[in-house]
Amino acid sequence: MPTDISWPPSLWARVSPPGPVLASLEGEQASDVVIVGAGFTGLSAAIHLREMGAAATVVEAAEPGWGASGRNNGQVIPTLAGHDPSDMVARHGAAGERFNALLRDSAADLFDLVRRYGIAAEAEQTGWVQPVHSPGRFRLAEKRVREWSALGAPVELLDRAAVGKMLGSEAWFGGFWNRTGGHVNPLALARGLAGVALQRGAVVYARSPALAIASSRGGWTVRSANGSVTARALVLATNAYTDAFASGLAARIAREVIPVASWQMATEPIGDDIARTIIPGRQAMSDTHRDLHFARWATGGRLVSGGAAVRPGRDAANLRRLVSARLQRLWPQIGDVAFEFVWSGFIGMTPDSLLRPEVPGFPRIHRLGPNAFAWVGCNGRAVALSVSLGRELARASQGVALETLGLPLSEPRPQPLRGVVRRLAPLALPLFRRLDAQEI
Ligand SMILES: Cc1cc2nc3c(=O)[nH]c(=O)nc-3n(C[C@H](O)[C@H](O)[C@H](O)COP(=O)(O)OP(=O)(O)OC[C@H]3O[C@@H](n4cnc5c(N)ncnc54)[C@H](O)[C@@H]3O)c2cc1C
Repeated sequence: MPTDISWPPSLWARVSPPGPVLASLEGEQASDVVIVGAGFTGLSAAIHLREMGAAATVVEAAEPGWGASGRNNGQVIPTLAGHDPSDMVARHGAAGERFNALLRDSAADLFDLVRRYGIAAEAEQTGWVQPVHSPGRFRLAEKRVREWSALGAPVELLDRAAVGKMLGSEAWFGGFWNRTGGHVNPLALARGLAGVALQRGAVVYARSPALAIASSRGGWTVRSANGSVTARALVLATNAYTDAFASGLAARIAREVIPVASWQMATEPIGDDIARTIIPGRQAMSDTHRDLHFARWATGGRLVSGGAAVRPGRDAANLRRLVSARLQRLWPQIGDVAFEFVWSGFIGMTPDSLLRPEVPGFPRIHRLGPNAFAWVGCNGRAVALSVSLGRELARASQGVALETLGLPLSEPRPQPLRGVVRRLAPLALPLFRRLDAQEI
């Protein structure tokens, strides 16, 4: 994994307001809670800790939003990638039920946080739609609507005509629709959250890779090259990037996820006449293909899409052709598609079964020791979830009873043969494409 901490050549890096100017960690510091990682999880934890009156110090290897939080598609989605509420309850019982409630509210909570603090993150709560790519998958949308409706989520089943109208495309067969979702400029959100954390009195150190975490009787110490933070409690918020800077930082946690590169692409500005015909209500869209098809509008009239590649080539040249052809297939009216921004980030995948890698696993949430918590394994869908989990991890670090929190805790389960699986993972793509095409 790269440890070059320059910004990726993303649309978000070009258009976002600059982040706060931050010092790096030097000397011996103390706090109530030390948080490693300044993505959505770590920054949300810091803000919620300050709201509870606790001192919070964030230690970030690069800059806020440098990891997945500043590189993603910005879709705010209140569901998991591979599982429905009943799966969560089957796996985690009552904690699964509390997690489902947290997930149900996660998109609404994110947009509320943005409004509450006036964060300029180009937030559009236009809803999230998951169109189905085969008639058979309509049953999945029905199940999803049934289960989330039972939990009081504002969801709806869309038939083929309704999805066609919402997306301006004949390509799909119906879909699942959740009104609380939408999209943001994710880097602007991460930087905005960092600004809020600072304003509320948190300390955020940048360019300070944590090299080691040690527990002692009094709590936890996080060390970087030039300093340390000692605190009563710890939140490890490094997700797919856990071993990007220090392989021994939390090896068992790092080895739970397979970091898989996901490429994002923003088109050149598209003329209003055509733009009006493509997702005219500006919803966030990601469908049911294993080789995920997704798109959302960004300000400046750019459509932001992307995909995965076996061999991306220089600047994902192979993928540019593939995604361009895909967008033309979905929306023939779009004409020639040119991408002005192409970048990538790592998704932390947690396949529960190596024999069925196309089914993303559950997120992994852990108690690492007294007053120490972590989570990894977003499976590509945790813009909203990471903000909510940051809040819950903050509460857990303050001694709030774990039985009241939306945290289905489990023991770390490092992936056997992770290095091999990681190298082979892209080779699963042709299989996914074949399975997608064969579905009826
Ligand atoms: C390309 C891409 C597209 C995605 N699209 C979507 C989407 O549209 N919708 C959605 O819901 N989800 C999406 N996701 C997933 C989503 O971005 C993540 O789930 C979410 O951002 C995770 O946030 P986080 O704070 O937990 O982790 P991160 O944002 O990855 O933050 C971890 C931080 O830890 C830091 N760090 C690592 N090691 C150290 C160390 N040793 N010391 C100090 N700091 C360290 C890193 O620098 C990083 O800033 C996407 C992910 C990617 C990569």
